[in-house]
Amino acid sequence: MINKEELEILKKKALDDHIPIIMDDTLEKIKEILEDEKPKRILEIGTAVGYSASKFAEYTEKDCVIDTIEIDENRANEAIENVKRIGVADRINIMIGNAVDILPTLDNKYDIVFIDAAKGKYPIFLEESIKLINDNGLILADNVLYKGYVMSDYNLHKQRTAVRHLREYIKEITENENLETEILEVGDGLSITRVHK
Ligand code: SAM
Repeated sequence: MINKEELEILKKKALDDHIPIIMDDTLEKIKEILEDEKPKRILEIGTAVGYSASKFAEYTEKDCVIDTIEIDENRANEAIENVKRIGVADRINIMIGNAVDILPTLDNKYDIVFIDAAKGKYPIFLEESIKLINDNGLILADNVLYKGYVMSDYNLHKQRTAVRHLREYIKEITENENLETEILEVGDGLSITRVHK
């Protein structure tokens, strides 16, 4: 049984601690997607403290497993404790390390991949996710519009690299003929890409 009260406590604590968890409207859209797609295995890149992974567990059937990767050891360890408290530890596998290194070592196949980590790595995450996804699976990526910077000609130096890589990501998901993409202006921009193998 999922402890929804603990999930709400986690959300509040993450927001109080300024941990960038998924926004409510983005989550609402992903909930609809998960209810339609009925995935059996989800991969998340960017666990933080386990909030979105726990919500995905809430929105899917009990036989759906979620593998999630987090580079920050403290956050990952917090996530491990959080998913136990919420009662979803048996469905969520938390891997600690850099997704760039971990993704090529995975041998499961996924129905859905959710990318929510370093924006500068989105093109690499996409390349690896395409290898790991089942035919007709969905790759979702959060923050693709990056507060509008992606659409703006002028960007501060510190945003430029992220913007360049996000533009590269958007170009690939919209121009690759095996990929079918919709970009929604929910949260910080959510891309939904259907992969035809
Ligand atoms: N999905 C989480 C949620 O909504 O509850 C929020 C994830 S937060 C936006 C992004 C996380 O990605 C951070 O905790 C960060 O440490 C992690 N991250 C950044 N680069 C990473 C990488 N290369 N590999 C794995 N995790 C990474």
